[in-house]
Amino acid sequence: MVAAAIDLQKISKNFGSLVALHPTELTVSKGEYVLVIGANGAGKTTLLRLVAGVSRPSSGRVFICGKNLRTNAENRAKIGLLTHHSMLYEDLTAEENLRFYSQLYCIKEKDLKIEHSLELMDLNRWRHRKVSGFSRGMRQRLSIARAIIHNPSVLLLDEPYSGLDPTTRETLQKLLLELKTHGHTFLMATHRLEDAAPLADRVIVIETGQIIVDEPWQGSASELAKLFESRKERTL
Ligand code: ATP
Repeated sequence: MVAAAIDLQKISKNFGSLVALHPTELTVSKGEYVLVIGANGAGKTTLLRLVAGVSRPSSGRVFICGKNLRTNAENRAKIGLLTHHSMLYEDLTAEENLRFYSQLYCIKEKDLKIEHSLELMDLNRWRHRKVSGFSRGMRQRLSIARAIIHNPSVLLLDEPYSGLDPTTRETLQKLLLELKTHGHTFLMATHRLEDAAPLADRVIVIETGQIIVDEPWQGSASELAKLFESRKERTL
């Protein structure tokens, strides 16, 4: 049997007395494109950070491609994480940041990969500029390039469209579609339903730290918004 790309076993997260994520079971098959939606503070980022292993769960276990993330640190290379924290080094240039991450992941043909990544997110003209002088959109472009430079099979994307101009959103959309075609697995949290709906094949709605909807998806952004609103009303 092929191991699931993501397997969460009773994973939960508390911040003091606040339950950000109730014990949650979730299995995502290889190649699935799962959209995570929910109101502000619902627990989407918390979920993604737990799956990535950058936040320690209060209980439960995370398996990536069949291996426990905690005891198989090398498995982290299978993950590409994009969050609100850019994970970029301010004093390094765009190119130096990509070089740092390509070394961290022991990528083969580093120069080629760096060139490709800069090209992909149209960063060439800013490649020698320090990140400290980057605009929000420039940072987001570089963060995307950084998140995928090691060709991770599992992509955890938190608001990937945030701060991008329309042309770059389109570029990102094409890139995500291409990665999906090549069998990558996605867990994407976003409020931009119009961008996310066409790519998703499963949708999860989170409300106050609990998954209240988990179903296959092929609909439009407006149908997604309706689903979100109707399920929310049912839980109130
Ligand atoms: P948004 O759509 O606004 O990004 P979200 O669904 O991603 O929201 P989370 O960031 O996961 O929401 O937050 C879930 C809950 O956990 C919120 O109540 C938030 O205030 C709380 N929370 C998140 N991180 C921390 C932290 N480091 N310390 C304390 N509480 C936190």
